[in-house]
Amino acid sequence: MKTVKDYIRTIVDFPHEGIMFRDVTTLFADPRGMRLAIDQMLAPYVGMQIDKVVGLEARGFILGGAIAHQLSIGFVPIRKKGKLPGTVISEEYKLEYGEAIVEIHDDAIQPGEKILVVDDLLATGGTAAAGIKLIERLGGEIVGCAFIVDLPELGGRAVLENLSYDIHALCQFE
Ligand code: 5GP
Repeated sequence: MKTVKDYIRTIVDFPHEGIMFRDVTTLFADPRGMRLAIDQMLAPYVGMQIDKVVGLEARGFILGGAIAHQLSIGFVPIRKKGKLPGTVISEEYKLEYGEAIVEIHDDAIQPGEKILVVDDLLATGGTAAAGIKLIERLGGEIVGCAFIVDLPELGGRAVLENLSYDIHALCQFE
């Protein structure tokens, strides 16, 4: 039987030479792969109190929407700068080359709400850490962070676990 990892395609030299891009669109396109990924991502959280799923742009929207639907709770997007129409708060974080800014609507989370963070892949952890900061600035409490893929060599999991966040990933690539 195929595992989640079996549905993920690797594209060599994307978006730059030397990068092995883990392409989850092949997983999303397969009905069994998509169901398997969603079921496994939310499995540790079934029965826990979770108020909202927060998805990180862009593939975190696809996964987060499906997980929120399955848990019958709301979904909140964290987007790249300039995309959200309402009043936002922002966090800047470092990329391999340069910086990026992510934003959340300032009324999207109420103090004390329990939040599940969702994205497709955890690499250095910079994107997830910036998202966590936005959620915590609004008073949200992080219940866990769920990913399809963890790239342990890039250290994101270790950084987030050292900060006592619960990290759940379905597979790893070296
Ligand atoms: P980090 O901030 O942890 O270094 O990078 C993770 C972010 O970059 C995630 O939002 C993820 O979507 C994107 N990303 C980086 N590398 C890959 C990759 O190989 N495959 C996919 N699907 N996303 C990636």
